[in-house]
Amino acid sequence: MDGKSDRYYVSTDYVQAIEQAGGIPFLLPYVSDEDALNTMVASVDAILLPGGVDLDPVNFMEEPIQNLGKVDPDWDNLELTVARLALESDIPILGICRGVQVLNVAAGGSLYQDIPSQIKTTLKHYQSAPRWHATHEVHVEADTKTYAMLGAETIRVNSFHHQSVKAVAPDFKITAKARDAVIEAIESKVHRFAVGVQWHPECMLERYPSFVDIFKALVDAGRDAALDRSTSQPGAKRQLEMVSRERRS
Ligand code: MN
Repeated sequence: MDGKSDRYYVSTDYVQAIEQAGGIPFLLPYVSDEDALNTMVASVDAILLPGGVDLDPVNFMEEPIQNLGKVDPDWDNLELTVARLALESDIPILGICRGVQVLNVAAGGSLYQDIPSQIKTTLKHYQSAPRWHATHEVHVEADTKTYAMLGAETIRVNSFHHQSVKAVAPDFKITAKARDAVIEAIESKVHRFAVGVQWHPECMLERYPSFVDIFKALVDAGRDAALDRSTSQPGAKRQLEMVSRERRS
């Protein structure tokens, strides 16, 4: 949300990444009514939580520290509600940067409010290099959905964050870490597909095309979830299966 001009927007990179992955992107705006949000969430097959400003630590029962950045309570409210609704209905959800933090907090976890003040590390997690450039290493846990999307135990990623996951939400596990043990990816142990990454793959697609697999994993999970939901409506299921076959071929 842009307070000066009253606009809702997301970066085109996210929209293009979803398109590249074979999905059809919709932008969900801020509405305060939870029933309306519920209807919005129920009308899409999957959710992507994008990057953005800091989360207000009140959402994980902490007081703000000195180096907490800009927060936006309405934005927090929108995304935490959307994330909770998606998790409740097992709608596939992918969190990117702020998105992984929202996902973790929505599921009951907490965050470091500012890495330099709270974690002993010399690693630069807020790079000055171009947005597409992979600046630090990440170690990925084998036998995880995160690994399946990335296809390697060691990768290099870009990094634009000063907050990170602290206590991982109860139903989630850590699936990737930087060399300094800062958490770079998490995923749910119980949901169909609830994954968060701390880097920005949508900015890297031109130079590192295989990162589109992260978005493909979300789109595929969304398609499968929609198919499962439609089992009580055989007509609708047939139609979806046809679309699904066309897309995959
Ligand atoms: Mn990082």
